[in-house]
Amino acid sequence: MATHKLLLLPGDGIGPEVMAEVKRVIDWLDRRGVASFAIEEDLVGGAAYDSCGLPISEEAMAKAFAADAILLGAVGGAKWAHVNYEVRPEAGLLRLRKDLQLFANLRPAVCYPALADASSLKRELVEGLDVLIVRELTGGVYFGEPKTITDLSDGQKRAIDTQIYESYEIERIARVAFELARTRRNKVVSTEKHNVMKTGLLWKQVVSEVHGSSFEDVALEHQLADSCGMQLVRAPKQFDVIVTDNLFGDILSDVAAMLTGSLGMLPSASLGGVEEVSGRRRALYEPVHGAAPDIAGKGLANPIAMVGSLAMALRYSFGELEAADRIEAAIAGVLAGGVRTADIYSEGKTRVGTAGMGDAILAELDKAA
Ligand code: NAD
Repeated sequence: MATHKLLLLPGDGIGPEVMAEVKRVIDWLDRRGVASFAIEEDLVGGAAYDSCGLPISEEAMAKAFAADAILLGAVGGAKWAHVNYEVRPEAGLLRLRKDLQLFANLRPAVCYPALADASSLKRELVEGLDVLIVRELTGGVYFGEPKTITDLSDGQKRAIDTQIYESYEIERIARVAFELARTRRNKVVSTEKHNVMKTGLLWKQVVSEVHGSSFEDVALEHQLADSCGMQLVRAPKQFDVIVTDNLFGDILSDVAAMLTGSLGMLPSASLGGVEEVSGRRRALYEPVHGAAPDIAGKGLANPIAMVGSLAMALRYSFGELEAADRIEAAIAGVLAGGVRTADIYSEGKTRVGTAGMGDAILAELDKAA
């Protein structure tokens, strides 16, 4: 059995609390011979700043390059609000994304039947929802130059952001989306604004070319981003994979997230290129939520997004589909059994804390084994 090199970066706030539950799941998989891991651990964010004055140390970066995949908890908190901008906790996460060139952000929005009533939409619209948003993460208007605010002679100011995409950036994200669609329901919606933006025109053209040359077995549809936003709240279950740029992806993935009920439920992945020698794709997995300082240290955090991030690592980095299925089935089983952390609690259910949710997931894994 292959041993997977996994780097754990628990981070700040509730990060270490939810990571503790992931460690129990990793132990379970190891003990039962389902999957084998070589675990390293290090600091990131405010915790790293307190220890070495940087939001991630060079040693931790070296471990990140050596790992098959990275699991990160969360970074940030009021304690570090006044540190220099360059060494703020978030800079640790941004450095990881930048240095590892993680250009594809995967945000699944899955609505478990047991939680369908927690959505802002009607149950029948979201029950069984399973959408994957693939967002371009390293290009577009957040990074394009010039990016300035200029004083004008008449007392006015002018702000400029620049949206830039080169065809290679669109091509590689399109490939990721089509490959993922093949492992799901084989359908991709590509979304941009080709009616008013040149980058949208190029986006549409390159995605069509990649489709025509290598992925004709996958159904492809182009939708304007505004229309895609409407469709996401009108009839979200029509979507399988949505591929889009950095800006539209930022917005659409948060819209999709809210369809599922709680931030504490949502895992994510950021993938980079495939290394030539090892054939390994660089990857970082993390919950969508932040450090949740309002509940940190209280044992209240929902660890499902963090445990779900491990399931994504098993699926997308390690090819351990059975182990991933087992974890996802255990989470669904726990929810169907009525176990809830405070963020997803409703009347008549069994309320538990972080460790209680971990216990319930392990019990469900035991039951199914
Ligand atoms: P947040 O996601 O930390 O919290 C938003 C709300 O959701 C809070 O009420 C919180 O209690 C709740 N929540 C989040 N995760 C939960 C969980 N697992 N279980 C139960 N409830 C949960 O977002 P925020 O409050 O905007 O940010 C707090 C800090 O986290 C800030 O310092 C911010 O910069 C940082 N942050 C980090 C990341 C990251 O590490 N990727 C992402 C977002 C925010």
